[in-house]
Formats: sequence, C-alpha cells, structure tokens
Amino acid sequence: MSVRLDGKRVGDEIRGEIAAEVARGTAAGHRPPGLAVILVGDDPASRVYVGSKGRAAAEAGFAEMTVKLAGDSSAAEVAATIARLNREEAVDGILVQLPLPGGLPERELVLGIDPDKDVDGLHPMNAGRLWSDEAGFVPCTPAGIVELLERYSVPLAGSRAVIVGRSRLVGKPMAALLLRENCTVTLCHSRTRDLAGECRRADILVGAIGRPAFFGPEHVREGAVVVDVGINRVEDRELAERIFAGQPRKMRAFEKNGSALVGDVDYARVEPLAAAITPVPGGVGPLTVAMLLANTLLSWQRREGLA
Ligand code: NDP
Repeated sequence: MSVRLDGKRVGDEIRGEIAAEVARGTAAGHRPPGLAVILVGDDPASRVYVGSKGRAAAEAGFAEMTVKLAGDSSAAEVAATIARLNREEAVDGILVQLPLPGGLPERELVLGIDPDKDVDGLHPMNAGRLWSDEAGFVPCTPAGIVELLERYSVPLAGSRAVIVGRSRLVGKPMAALLLRENCTVTLCHSRTRDLAGECRRADILVGAIGRPAFFGPEHVREGAVVVDVGINRVEDRELAERIFAGQPRKMRAFEKNGSALVGDVDYARVEPLAAAITPVPGGVGPLTVAMLLANTLLSWQRREGLA
C-alpha cells in the first residue's frame, strides 16, 4: 500500500499559511497583494483555470483582478494591457493565461511582463535566474511538486530523479529545482532511447508528457515515488475501458459524464509498486494554484519591504 501524496490537503495548508501572512501584513497597514490575470478569448478550460485562480487569490485575501480581452485582440492590445499592469503599483503579479488564441505571439508577449511581476516564472530572465541559483520566480507546477515532496519528507538529496517531459513550463524547471535539491537528475523526452529502462532507475519519477495512463509497471521500480503531472481528458470509450479495467466505479463515472480526467500514470497498476504516488485529480494540480499565490505573496513582500 503506497502513500497517497495528497496535493489537495497540502495545497490547502499552503493557502492557509499564505492567508495568515496576508492578514499579518494588512493588519500592519500594508495594502493586500495584487494579482492580475489576463484572459484572452473564451476557451472553456482557460476560463475554468482563471476562475479557480481568482477564487483562490480572493480567499487568501489578495486583491484579484481578471482582465478579459476579446479573442480577436491584437498582439499590440495584449501588450498594452501588460505594460499598464507593469506600471500599476498595486499589482504584484501578472499572469497571462496560456494558451493564447491562435496567432498571438506567446513568447513575445511573455517577454513584455516585468520579470519582477512574472509570478508564473515564464520570463527567460526568471528561467535564467533559476539555472543560475539566483532569486526569482519559479514556475508554479514544479515549485509545488518540490513543496509536496518536502512536506511528505521524501528524501531528495542524493536521490535519482527521472523527469519525463522537457517543456519550459514543467520538465525543464523541474530538472533545475531537483538539481538544486541535490538529486541526480535525468531529463527524458520523446527521443529518449529505452525510456522504460531510464524510468526504472528512478527513486523519484516525474511524468509530465500529456499522454493518458502512459506510465505503467514497466516504468516503475518497486519503492519509487511517482509524481503524475499529466491532466488528460479522456473521451474515448475504448481507452477509458482499458484504463479503468477492474474499476467499475470509475467506469460508471465515465459513462455518466461522457469523459474522465486521467493522469500520465496508469494509477491502478502503478500504485501497488510505488512507495508514494500523486493521484489525478487532487495531486499536483492544487499545488500549482497554491504556488501561484506563494509567488505573488513573495513579490508583494519584496515590493512592500516585508521580505
Ligand atoms: P508539453 O506538450 O509542452 O510537453 C510534453 C513533453 O513530453 C515534451 O517534452 C515531449 O517531448 C514529451 N513527450 C511527449 N510524448 C512523449 C513520449 N511518448 N515519450 C516521452 N516523452 C514524451 O506539455 P506540458 O509540459 O505543458 O504538460 C505536460 C502535461 O502536464 C499535460 O498533460 C498538461 O496538461 C499537464 N500539466 C499539468 C499541470 C498541473 O497543474 N497539474 C500544469 C501544467 C501542465 P519532446 O520535447 O521530445 O517533444
């Protein structure tokens, strides 16, 4: 029986700590931390993410502002919004919800965010700071994973960590952070030879590729800690039947909703092997939001002279 790494519980704990810091600061006469989220267009998934970030910010006592721009906004219009928020004194963190509608130059727009308000940690300046061991903002998902592992006392120093996926948002910063924690890090991707063999060497396996239930028992050494970053919506019945074989409750929920959220890890088959494992949902996801608040809190503390 493995330990279930409960991201919901840890996320709530972190958010409670942040709310207490905010209450202390505002009681001392400081303005609340300000988080601005820019949503361009009306992609349903993005709307849900922006909504949950906004609610979490408000619950922690932040001044939260969602700036909605039309889906056919020009790059210049989005850039002007970013520039205005860069100048606004009461805004400590700016986040552009990705993906942007087709045609908008994502990287160029992210470059326009003041690196000291870039609470998503996506600006190249913050990526450089991370790899140079300088203070900056770390992307929220990998930062949350380290926080989760630490709060469950998973030994990091000297451990062999294998990360699969090398995106700017997850895989690469995850590698930098685990290296900082003195893990021995291997970063795998779609061109890795003998991926299963590489994964089986891991004390800590982080799967972040966006393929439903891809990682099976052949990828996991007995006693490994498994972190599942993937969030995949499965709508295909045949695939659902394969993933949920022997789990009638899950299959019934799939039938009822017409879809299911599944991680990159084949949870039912991997869980018996793992020492500890994150579920999907309720694993890494809630930590991503908590760390967005943590980054904004940090920015506020620096800008208000509280750090
Ligand atoms: P990207 O699509 O940007 O990157 C996917 C990475 O996986 C690439 O590096 C790719 O390799 C690699 N990959 C794809 N297929 C394979 C394969 N068969 N074998 C080995 N490597 C493979 O994805 P993201 O990093 O943005 O996201 C990954 C997953 O995490 C998604 O499911 C996403 O929804 C989820 N996610 C969850 C978050 C959370 O809060 N829980 C936050 C962010 C993302 P290559 O570079 O060679 O193409």
